[in-house]
Amino acid sequence: MLCHLVVYLIIGVLLIHRAGSSREGGFQYSSQQHWSGTCSNNTGHQSPINIQVPDNTVKVQDPLLVPAATKDVTMEMMKDDHTVKVTFPEGIDGEFEFKIPTTNGVKTKALQLHLHWGQSEHMINFKWYKLESHLVTLRVDDGQPKLTVFGRVFELGEANPMVEKMIEAAERNATQVEGFDLTVLYPPSIRHILAYSGSLTTPPCTEGVSWFVVQEPLTISEDQVKFLDKLDQISECFTYLMHFLTSSQ
Ligand SMILES: [Zn+2]
Repeated sequence: MLCHLVVYLIIGVLLIHRAGSSREGGFQYSSQQHWSGTCSNNTGHQSPINIQVPDNTVKVQDPLLVPAATKDVTMEMMKDDHTVKVTFPEGIDGEFEFKIPTTNGVKTKALQLHLHWGQSEHMINFKWYKLESHLVTLRVDDGQPKLTVFGRVFELGEANPMVEKMIEAAERNATQVEGFDLTVLYPPSIRHILAYSGSLTTPPCTEGVSWFVVQEPLTISEDQVKFLDKLDQISECFTYLMHFLTSSQ
C-alpha cells in the first residue's frame, strides 16, 4: 500500500512538472478542470494516457503497410508560433490510404502529420519523451467517419531527416515540403503497436479516437529540439478537430 502511495505521489509530481512545462498559447494542463466539452464530462476514455506495456498492447500480425505513394510527396507546410504541420495532397484512387491494424482491412486515409514538442503527449511505462509525432487519418469505409491517429515518440540522439525537412521549411517560411517520405517515420517494419481507444488531447476532448502508438522511439537531435523549443505550440489535434467538425456539418 505504501508503495502504491509513493508511486501515486511520483506520478503527481510528474504531472505537475508537465503542467509547468506547457507552452503559452496552447491549452494548459494545469487548468484542465476548466476545459469545455467532453473534457469535464467524459466517460473515462481520455487521451493522452500512460500506456502500460503489455497492457493495451495489440500484436499487429501484418506490417504497417504505409502506401508507396507516401514516399515522395510534396506536402503543404504550415508553421506559425504554435504549429508545425504538413498536410497530404488530396490524392487519387486511394493512394494515401492504408489498412487500420486489427480491423480486418478497414482503410484509413492519411490527412496530416504534426508535432508535439517540449514533452511527448503520451507516456510509455511512465516515461515521457522529447517529441511526439501524430499522423492523423480518417477511416474511409461506409461506417461513421472516425479519426485514427498514429503516434511516434522521439528521444535525444541522431537528427531525424523528416523532422529536419519540416524544420528547414519552417526556417525558410516555406509553404511546401518536397520529397517528404512518411515511411521514414512509419516504416513497414513496424509490427508491434500499442493500441487503445481515447480522445482528442485538448478541448473539446471528443472521445472515440483510435490511437496506435509505436513503442520503439525514433531520435531527434539537440539542435532540432532547440529549434522547436523556440516555437510556441497549440495542439494541432484541437485545430484539426474543429475543422473536421465544422466541415462535416
Ligand atoms: Zn496531436
